[in-house]
Amino acid sequence: MRFSRAFIPTLKEAPADAEIPSHKLLIRAGFIRKVASGLYDILPLGALVVRKIIRVIREEMDRAGAQEVILPIMHPAELWIESGRWDVYGKEMVKFKDRHGRDYSLAPTAEEVITDLVRREVKSYKDLPLNLYQIGRKFRDEIRPRFGLMRAREFIMKDAYSFHATDEDAEREYWNMYETYSRIFKRMGLEFKAVEADTGEIGGKFSHEFMVIADTGEGKLVYCEKCGYAASTEKAEQFKPEPPKDRESRFKPLEKVHTPNVKRIDEVSEFLNVPPENILKLLVYIVDGKPVAVAVRGDREVEETKLKRALGGKEVRLATDEEIENFTGQPKGFLSPLGLNIPVFADYSVTQMVNFVAGAGEKDYHLKNVNWGRDFKVEDFIDVSEVRGGQPCPKCGAPLVEKRGIEVGHIFKLGTKYSEAMGATFVDENGEEKPIIMGCYGIGVTRVMAAAVEQNYDENGIVWPKEIAPFEVIVIPVNVKKEEISEVSERIYSELQRNKIDVILDDRNARPGFKFKDADLIGIPYQVIVGKKVQEGIVEVKERRTGDRVEVKVDEVVEYLT
Ligand code: ATP
Ligand code: MG
Ligand code: MG
Ligand code: MG
Repeated sequence: MRFSRAFIPTLKEAPADAEIPSHKLLIRAGFIRKVASGLYDILPLGALVVRKIIRVIREEMDRAGAQEVILPIMHPAELWIESGRWDVYGKEMVKFKDRHGRDYSLAPTAEEVITDLVRREVKSYKDLPLNLYQIGRKFRDEIRPRFGLMRAREFIMKDAYSFHATDEDAEREYWNMYETYSRIFKRMGLEFKAVEADTGEIGGKFSHEFMVIADTGEGKLVYCEKCGYAASTEKAEQFKPEPPKDRESRFKPLEKVHTPNVKRIDEVSEFLNVPPENILKLLVYIVDGKPVAVAVRGDREVEETKLKRALGGKEVRLATDEEIENFTGQPKGFLSPLGLNIPVFADYSVTQMVNFVAGAGEKDYHLKNVNWGRDFKVEDFIDVSEVRGGQPCPKCGAPLVEKRGIEVGHIFKLGTKYSEAMGATFVDENGEEKPIIMGCYGIGVTRVMAAAVEQNYDENGIVWPKEIAPFEVIVIPVNVKKEEISEVSERIYSELQRNKIDVILDDRNARPGFKFKDADLIGIPYQVIVGKKVQEGIVEVKERRTGDRVEVKVDEVVEYLT
């Protein structure tokens, strides 16, 4: 590639809406451009990186025994209705009608389509196992697209799905993919952790997220440096604290206080002079159509996944204001746990404290010294607290380290959720018909590109890891007007090409400083600088990451770089 002909529009300044380094740099260095919210053009440099990321993924997936397929991205609604997800997937799924008025979606994921393929073709245990993958576009109408390619609405994903006759075989493949993913991210030069992740409604212990460690990551993880335990903070196992034995001896008498116009937690805290964590807040959820109140300390919200888990995978949503007043008979915002006619669940941390402040079920009044057990009954305790760094590792007790991370991959043992719903069965050795056991495995290809930058940049620009750099080498003649410089540069350029090294020649007629700036910004791992010393048969090789410069003989440059 010759820079003079290349489409590499670099910019001095990043656009105002770019918040994090990878987003700013990918735009400034000419890798991507925004079309609309969450929609991006990937320019030639970006496409080269995507190609390299895909090459690594493809090589490792093939090596692991998976087979590549190409599935449609336009999915007929019938398949999603069969799996039960047409109505529950939510607004992230883009739906539309064809000219005949039939419903379709743009693929946010492909369990339905692949299960449909496999149920039509696989009949016997002899046809199993199978691991099929594709690399292509996914559409998710994210509520808050942001950070460029990191959370886009249209993006590239590698998604694989495996099919098995037995649970053991599904688990064998799960660990095969775990190893494969580890190799993929290692080859790409990324610092990552595979963390135990939430399995949501499917349950079980077979879900890992591959997180690239970065301060700007939207996810949080904890890990133990001693025993290797690692989990997303949502998933991390808890030591459930025992309720203190002498709780009741510390109860104070219940007191109702007039609190005019005091409503928010910070206002209550100030007015009654109690710490915010001693204020009990009631949140009303609708669980399988029935109301449940959840008592939490202070401002903590209950994450629905946690509540769902505590309730064994039931359908859960927050109640509307109207529902709250209908079901409790109390005004919203002043809910009292006393005499509440719906079941009360409590955050486990509530067991640790006594004498809470709570609403009085009446406008402008609060209750002081409310205690569960004496004043109100708790149906069950749920754990909504987060595991944090510094807390003991659930496996070995050493202090946990907490970091932020970017989810670049996710592996999941699905079991028979889709095969049962969609009738994907096989006949086993004894002639018995059984649902196929499945797993699914995703990698966000375009997100990897952003995550790699998030981990590899400095004040001058991107510093690509070699395996996924758009070019491995840039040859920079400091002055193309000087015949000898130009000639040697051309020679090195074609020599490198002959040796299958991805190289770009900056043959632009521009000042050297300008070219060096672009080379640093774009982040190509090696710069071959061809200057005055060519007269002595010498060029300079600069390593982008370290800034180290080495003088190398012209005849030895290719060897030096291979
Ligand atoms: P997130 O938690 O970030 O929303 P997810 O858990 O919804 O991601 P999965 O359904 O597990 O995503 O999809 C597999 C992979 O696809 C993710 O691990 C991630 O790398 C990538 N991915 C998901 N959503 C996006 C997006 N909006 N933009 C870019 N990549 C994405
Ligand atoms: Mg998501
Ligand atoms: Mg996720
Ligand atoms: Mg995920």
